[in-house]
Amino acid sequence: MNLIGHYVDGKRTTGESERRGDVFDPATGRRTGQVALAGAADVAGAVEAAERAARDWRDASLARRTAVMFAVRELVHARRDRLAEAITAEHGKVLADAAGEVQRGLEVIEYACGIASALRGGFSENVSTEVDSYSLRQPLGVVAVISPFNFPVMVPLWFVPVAIACGNAVVLKPSEKDPSAALLLAEWFTEAGLPDGVLNVVNGDKEAVDALLDHPGVKAVSFVGSTPVARYVHQRGALAGKRVQALGGAKNHMVVLPDADLDLAADAAVNAGFGSAGERCMAISALVAVEPVADALVERIAERMARLRTGDGRRGCDMGPLVTAAHARRVRSYVESGVSAGAVPVVDGRTVTPDGEPGGFWLGPTLFDHVRPEMSIYTDEIFGPVLSVLRVGSYDEAVELVNASPYGNGTAIFTNDGGAARRYQHEVEAGMVGVNVPIPVPMAYYSFGGWKASLFGDLHAHGADGVAFFTRGKVVTSRWLDPRHGGVNLGFPTQT
Ligand code: NAD
Repeated sequence: MNLIGHYVDGKRTTGESERRGDVFDPATGRRTGQVALAGAADVAGAVEAAERAARDWRDASLARRTAVMFAVRELVHARRDRLAEAITAEHGKVLADAAGEVQRGLEVIEYACGIASALRGGFSENVSTEVDSYSLRQPLGVVAVISPFNFPVMVPLWFVPVAIACGNAVVLKPSEKDPSAALLLAEWFTEAGLPDGVLNVVNGDKEAVDALLDHPGVKAVSFVGSTPVARYVHQRGALAGKRVQALGGAKNHMVVLPDADLDLAADAAVNAGFGSAGERCMAISALVAVEPVADALVERIAERMARLRTGDGRRGCDMGPLVTAAHARRVRSYVESGVSAGAVPVVDGRTVTPDGEPGGFWLGPTLFDHVRPEMSIYTDEIFGPVLSVLRVGSYDEAVELVNASPYGNGTAIFTNDGGAARRYQHEVEAGMVGVNVPIPVPMAYYSFGGWKASLFGDLHAHGADGVAFFTRGKVVTSRWLDPRHGGVNLGFPTQT
């Protein structure tokens, strides 16, 4: 049996805890390994290794940190196919999609190569006579990164390169559903010259997460996952005095106005609805058609869906399986509830014949029309290949519907009217907005994050927010004495 352990202080280890979780190939349904589930002692060991490493790493010169990042970039780039294969083997997404995920992660490494610019402080000469002030940003120490199953490479890389380039040491806790890719990454960071202990990987589940949240050595937590867990992590981490950013779930709306290019909109809805089997935090799951476009749009979407091939991600299919048998059952049960609530199943993914082994966790792309806002297929994040079409009468009704959602991760508007698009980007309550672009994908040099129940905390991931999150500000006011100094004055200092 393939036992997937941890990576602590530059070495693979299976840890002390004997708890194990099963890891599957979602396209065959077969168990391919077992992952070690860390207990509090394993977590403490990793945090201690990170604390030791952080003491030196905070003093590593910017030139040295940059050199490590460049070397990591080269290794990950050269081995990107191996990483994509590792993702597909445990997550199930098709290889091309896994390669895209690796590419997005690489872009954050490239951003971190420019850390010297991002960390530059400010300097003000003569804030008072012969007194100067300047600002510094310094690392926090040990930070934890807790990631979800749906991007086993990209999400860890949203945080790890920035945290390390800022001078921190990291304990990464990947999803127990697809833990292997993170271990490869950690080994490659070491190979690139990162000192042992600066990047550690602890595999596990809630027990490991709780141990990280409670450990006094962990100064900050970057979490990505579902909203209930994000809320919990934010609260428990904050209670322990940590800095926390917790990115949660989503229900992303795509509004299509009557003047939109319907072929472009239909392509976008299919790509963003069913890419990665809908297991993306930026997936479009609610399509808001402003009448009279709905009939024509639904027809175009259904035509495109008929051509999609669902199957094993290694066979050149368009869409792979769901991540686990339990998740596939859950998504199916939503399809059943949509039918019984009266939504119209235009395309029913339950009838798909996959290009893959029968034991795989299959569900084909599903399209519901005439979905009402009170139906659970609309209110809940399904996180599967289920696209709901809601029909509204006007732009105002569309915005009202989108803004009533408790989630605010991403949204898109399709229109040829620049004024309408501009109004939408101004009025909509979401962290990321696409205009004639279905998924506003994360750009490394901007920051990524949602609003409302899609993010707890304030700073977003990577870009300038990432640097701010992984550092503390310090302001120094200094005076170098010259012969004119002196004199006692108990008054509050003012600028003279
Ligand atoms: P999840 O919340 O089940 O798990 C996320 C992480 O938390 C994992 O590492 C898991 O081991 C851990 N965890 C799970 N249950 C826990 C608990 N009760 N206590 C403590 N830790 C726990 O999420 P998932 O199913 O792995 O990922 C899918 C979710 O992530 C979706 O809701 C998706 O929208 C969200 N997501 C959000 C973003 C974003 O940018 N906002 C990005 C990717 C994924």
